[in-house]
Amino acid sequence: MTDNESEKSITVTNPATGEIAGTANLCNADDTKAAIEKAYAAYLKWSAVSSNRRAAILFKTAELVRRNQDELARLLTTEQGKILPEAKNEVQGFAAVYEFYASITGTALTGDALPKSDYGYAFTKREPIGVCGAIIPWNMPVLIMAWKTAPAIAAGNSIVLKPSAKTPLTALAIAALAKEAGMPDGVLEIVTGSGEVVGRALAQSRDIASLSFTGSVATGKEVEKFSCGTGKRLIMELGGSDPMVVCADADIDKAVAGAVSGRFYNCGQTCTAIKRLFVADEIADEFTAKLKAETEKITVGNGILKGIRMGPLNSREGLAGIESALERRGTGEIVSGGERLTEGAFGAGNFFEPTIVLNPDGKSPLLNEEIFGPVLPVVSVDSLESAIEYANRTPFGLGASVWTKSLRNSYTFAENIDAGIVWVNRHLKIPPEVPFGGEKASGYGRENGLDALKHYTREKTVIISP
Ligand code: NDP
Repeated sequence: MTDNESEKSITVTNPATGEIAGTANLCNADDTKAAIEKAYAAYLKWSAVSSNRRAAILFKTAELVRRNQDELARLLTTEQGKILPEAKNEVQGFAAVYEFYASITGTALTGDALPKSDYGYAFTKREPIGVCGAIIPWNMPVLIMAWKTAPAIAAGNSIVLKPSAKTPLTALAIAALAKEAGMPDGVLEIVTGSGEVVGRALAQSRDIASLSFTGSVATGKEVEKFSCGTGKRLIMELGGSDPMVVCADADIDKAVAGAVSGRFYNCGQTCTAIKRLFVADEIADEFTAKLKAETEKITVGNGILKGIRMGPLNSREGLAGIESALERRGTGEIVSGGERLTEGAFGAGNFFEPTIVLNPDGKSPLLNEEIFGPVLPVVSVDSLESAIEYANRTPFGLGASVWTKSLRNSYTFAENIDAGIVWVNRHLKIPPEVPFGGEKASGYGRENGLDALKHYTREKTVIISP
């Protein structure tokens, strides 16, 4: 590769080894504009295709993704770092989202036939909106790609998607499978490049009808600013600092298992990961002892290897962010982990021990910032009410869970917690048919379910005078 060529490509690094995982084009604003134009030409034809035919292509895409799941999962692990079973689960999640929208698009987009009025008969119909845009992060690049592209395409739109420059490879591989499944050229356009250039060009474009963004709160604000005045509709899926509240009557073993998977899945880099844990005073000692024991069983290493339960962080910046938050933690006591792993093969990757910090003070960054890595602060509380009050102190409002056997506690929590998604006795996962999104600084708009499909349509009213 010449120097000139290397300037035009993105080099993707394997977070477990520091080796090159692959390369992708470093596109610029003109490339983005060209992709939008191509997507518009495709939209004109795709929007006229019957919903049956569109569904068939979505189903076929899902089938090819399932057929190639081992290869896709390996690619995802190599570029993102998550362990192979999690990568496989995410690839299967992609297929499930495509299957869901394929199965509802023919029947869900209905209008209303209205009673006769003084002006005649009226009905409403739903139509696609045009070229849509999507900007996605690196933490769940395959699933989030599905959340944004499946409903848009199923509803008859085309979409231009910008994956994170850290994880463009799986998006490109899946787009190639969609093409093989019969998706016409231009319906699913992938533009690889930086957020500053490609992301900004998508946000500033006046030829994009909707932009769905997933990423940090700070970047979300930039995207809103760039989009302002362009007339596009926005979905903002931003950061979170999900609380998990364990009541005194909870099944402790089940709650411990939920906390371990809810915090350390994907090396703690999930928007709806459990980022703060509040536990009732009465059970705090027993709960924390069991949590520590289970956390210390987690094997850390290259996610491509068998038997590994937690891979590396995706980037060196992510690793530095975790170290900085722990250094600034204030009074909290580290009872498990707390160190970067540097010995031998670990040195080349971004490995950090699964970490538990007991009772950091209320001002600690661990309780106030979004900690995007394997660190779990645990705070004991004297009541469900004080846990809710504490949990609501952050600007975030993405997910939240309560662990209890009581219907009253469940309902009190669901009613009073600031969150777009509330789980009782589980956390983290969400099926494609259920709306997903946050409130407060965590964003607005919904992915998944019927809400997302409708987002990608406009309602038209037709009045017919007899
Ligand atoms: P970033 O906000 O850094 O990046 C997200 C995307 O935005 C990337 O594709 C990035 O491009 C792009 N981008 C960066 N700068 C700009 C810009 N100026 N204009 C337009 N686009 C830009 O987030 P991360 O990738 O670090 O992802 C982690 C964040 O995502 C966390 O806060 C997490 O909570 C959140 N998230 C939220 C979810 C939700 O549903 N609410 C789900 C998953 C994650 P590039 O990096 O390639 O330059």
